[in-house]
Amino acid sequence: MSGDAIIVGGGASGLYCAYQLARSGVAVTLFERNAVFGKKLRITGKGRCNMTNDCTPTEFLDNIYRGKRSLRSAIYGHTPQDVMAELEAIGVPVKVERGNRVFPVSENAHDVAARLENACRRAGAELITERVTEIILDERGAAAGIIAAGTEYRAGVVVVATGGLSYPKTGSTGDGYRFAQRAGLAVTQRLPSLVPLLSDELCCPALQGLSLKNVRLTVTDSGGREKYSGFGEMLFTDRGISGPLVLTASAQLDFSGGACYNAVIDLKPAVTEAELDARLLAMLQAGQNKDVVNALHGLLPASLLPVLLNKAEIDGRLKANSLTKDARKSVIRTLKGFTVSISGPATIDEAVITRGGVDMSGINSSTMESKLSPGLYFIGEVLDLDGKTGGFNLQIAWSTAFLAARAITARLRDAE
Ligand SMILES: Cc1cc2nc3c(=O)[nH]c(=O)nc-3n(C[C@H](O)[C@H](O)[C@H](O)COP(=O)(O)OP(=O)(O)OC[C@H]3O[C@@H](n4cnc5c(N)ncnc54)[C@H](O)[C@@H]3O)c2cc1C
Repeated sequence: MSGDAIIVGGGASGLYCAYQLARSGVAVTLFERNAVFGKKLRITGKGRCNMTNDCTPTEFLDNIYRGKRSLRSAIYGHTPQDVMAELEAIGVPVKVERGNRVFPVSENAHDVAARLENACRRAGAELITERVTEIILDERGAAAGIIAAGTEYRAGVVVVATGGLSYPKTGSTGDGYRFAQRAGLAVTQRLPSLVPLLSDELCCPALQGLSLKNVRLTVTDSGGREKYSGFGEMLFTDRGISGPLVLTASAQLDFSGGACYNAVIDLKPAVTEAELDARLLAMLQAGQNKDVVNALHGLLPASLLPVLLNKAEIDGRLKANSLTKDARKSVIRTLKGFTVSISGPATIDEAVITRGGVDMSGINSSTMESKLSPGLYFIGEVLDLDGKTGGFNLQIAWSTAFLAARAITARLRDAE
């Protein structure tokens, strides 16, 4: 069997590329190993799909960790606003929320995947649910097709859109790296990024499920140097800490060589120590005959208060009127710097994205084509490109997919 182009992987980037190619009249066949297309796309943004960020290309590039330079053509060639227009045109109305985060109005990630799949089919793309096991290269090293379920499918254009290594249950288990290496491309070390952080401290299981809003998280290394500081939301898990602030912080940390960090949480960032002292005094005086833990009720979420007193080395069963000035100071210090020691990141299985991948030095960043294999393209998370939370990673998938589709269409037209 043969066609113009084959796409390997039916996630965000593969579906988007297939749609762009099919609507340009290219005979495209997309292979997805799962029975369902866009399995990871369907769980993005906690099921709401933060599909992009409504920002300028310059702002977009400011939010990219790796591959800033390699992404210039892709982002200027297909901006977040272009993606929003494309998705609206296929029946996904979008809305912009805090921090320019873009979501479908339906707040349902399944809509995005289903509409994209429909758009592909309507435009004439053939969608096949088989796992690709090999990429066929001809004697010059050029793309010649793929093998899936023991059958050869021939095409002069093959696009690898197999994703990274995170959340492998969604189908991204790293096949694309093997394909790249077989085609002579280098693959950089793959590490978890945007990942929960682990801690051995008992306060974490004790506070499991507690979500904190409007806190300041500062992460310091063992020498006390600040590695990250941000304001927002985080949560405790049975094995450590997670949530938007923590995921973002994780991308700034390097755990190689066994490095350890401290997460320092300012639970009352909008209040000065003097204001806190006045508030504590008032609460302790109002409840002078109560136990401290009861007198301070309302200062913090109920589960957090005893844990905080424990960290501040205060016996919560003391009478409020017996709390010394030094003890009060200790409570304030802990409120402004609730410290959790971090032992490492969670595994890549739990990471939102994979840092590292196909080395961009082997890819033409104006077309996404391998410099070694004419007709072999790489798009999306399989590449060594990654960005912050906020829609930037899906935008990488859309923009690289669009760039490849544009180059492939031009290439096939030229060949006619
Ligand atoms: C929990 C979670 C939430 C996220 N939320 C957001 C968010 O809100 N906003 C955001 O910007 N980013 C988010 N991301 C990141 C985003 O999902 C990825 O960056 C994006 O999906 C990458 O797209 P992709 O097409 O490169 O890879 P994927 O979406 O992973 O797609 C790859 C596809 O290739 C298929 N495949 C792999 N190997 C083969 C093979 N050999 N043959 C056939 N098919 C194969 C896989 O089954 C998979 O369907 C989130 C990630 C996770 C894990």
